[in-house]
Amino acid sequence: MSRFDYDLFVIGAGSGGVRASRIAAGHGARVGICEESRVGGTCVIRGCVPKKLLVYASQFAEQFEDAAGYGWQLGESTFDWPALIAAKDREIDRLNGIYIKLLENAGVDLHMGRGRLVDAHTVEVDGRKITAERILIAVGGRPGVPDIPGHELGITSDEAFHLAELPERVLVIGAGYIAVEFAGIFAGLGSRVTLAYRRDLVLRGFDHDIRKAVDAGLRGRGIDLRYQVSPARLERSGGGVEVTFSDDSSAEYDQVMFATGRHPYTGDLGLDAAGVETGAGTRIEVDNYSRTSVDSIFAVGDVTDRINLTPVALMEGHAFADTQFGGMDRPLDHADTPAAVFSQPPVATVGLTEEEARERYDSIRIFRSQFTPMKYTLAGRQEKGLMKLVVDAASDRVLGCHVVGLDAPEMMQGFAVAVRAGLSKADFDRTIGIHPTAAEELVTMRSPVS
Ligand code: NDP
Repeated sequence: MSRFDYDLFVIGAGSGGVRASRIAAGHGARVGICEESRVGGTCVIRGCVPKKLLVYASQFAEQFEDAAGYGWQLGESTFDWPALIAAKDREIDRLNGIYIKLLENAGVDLHMGRGRLVDAHTVEVDGRKITAERILIAVGGRPGVPDIPGHELGITSDEAFHLAELPERVLVIGAGYIAVEFAGIFAGLGSRVTLAYRRDLVLRGFDHDIRKAVDAGLRGRGIDLRYQVSPARLERSGGGVEVTFSDDSSAEYDQVMFATGRHPYTGDLGLDAAGVETGAGTRIEVDNYSRTSVDSIFAVGDVTDRINLTPVALMEGHAFADTQFGGMDRPLDHADTPAAVFSQPPVATVGLTEEEARERYDSIRIFRSQFTPMKYTLAGRQEKGLMKLVVDAASDRVLGCHVVGLDAPEMMQGFAVAVRAGLSKADFDRTIGIHPTAAEELVTMRSPVS
């Protein structure tokens, strides 16, 4: 009989925590998990899933417009924000229920309440002490907001999912994933959107050509992009929130949304009590087996601030459980993690950007194609899609693949397999295209542009 209540206790029932607990239970471990909010975590409750539902909602206006080019005469359309939010909430409730069932079916005990480390083998959940041989921290992240006067008048994506009404004038601050995705959502639903960014081009860290294509696509949808400015002060004004910017300009908005990054949710978690070391930005330091500085304590997902994406947290949680409870040796490998940004137009990417490849390789070849998606021809829409391959000239290996345009996220999963497998440009070239699709461009680009 073990001297602990559980073999594994997990703090946080989001993507990483739920996956790890289910897999560990499947390997025969006695598992408990605690959650202070709702089972499902950021992705299901206030991230990827509700965001994508809102993205779908926001695309209809453009589709109604395009339909005219195909002979459709549509009546006047209206949009009902509360109806959308209610429908989205019902779907999130359904998924929350499924996640709870998944834990039940796996035999994992769910403790609702906030978990806090007491020592290397003990977690306190709402006053009750629970012991475990191993503890997994999977508490995720929380939005960060700049400490400027009046910041409390702004919202983050957490609140954006629950607004009582669609704001007419929105200011989005930041130019990362969340900023460009929400700028597109609000604009598509009919808000007037301004995006303010402290540097000179959206989506820092992505391939430069991709960033320029997204910039053009956002502008093409009427989004006012303001670069080299930050909000300096927010004040309540008659009609909404008055924002004064770093260049002394000011304007009034109905909502101001901070999309200025997310940070590990490590406050008041008892890390010091247990001796768990943290690094920059209070992220929990882990090795490639997700081990912290304490032998019995592990951490996965956004709280470790490695690559903050749901499928990465799933992989980290799964590998942890297989290694610790399944008798396997599964070190983590984050190489060639594909990603998508559900902006409008959307972005999908895997591997190195042109800029990264130029730093790491002596000679690279770039293949690039820009074209109008077939769907836009009859619709009369001017926007072009962009496809790009980054190839190592010496080995012919495809180092990076980047796409902006319709269906980019759907097409990237398959190409991620090819890049991850280390395939060459010649392998791409001898693959027959699927016609007529946009994806076929990626196997038919013959001449390098540089
Ligand atoms: P990001 O880190 O992607 O972007 C943050 C943005 O805010 C950057 O433009 C940054 O500027 C700016 N910023 C940061 N601090 C300040 C400040 N004090 N004042 C003004 N601007 C500031 O974070 P997000 O919040 O967009 O998303 C968080 C994470 O969530 C992402 O990194 C991603 O991992 C994940 N995510 C993934 C999605 C997906 O897979 N589709 C969707 C949404 C989120 P600068 O460039 O100068 O640093």
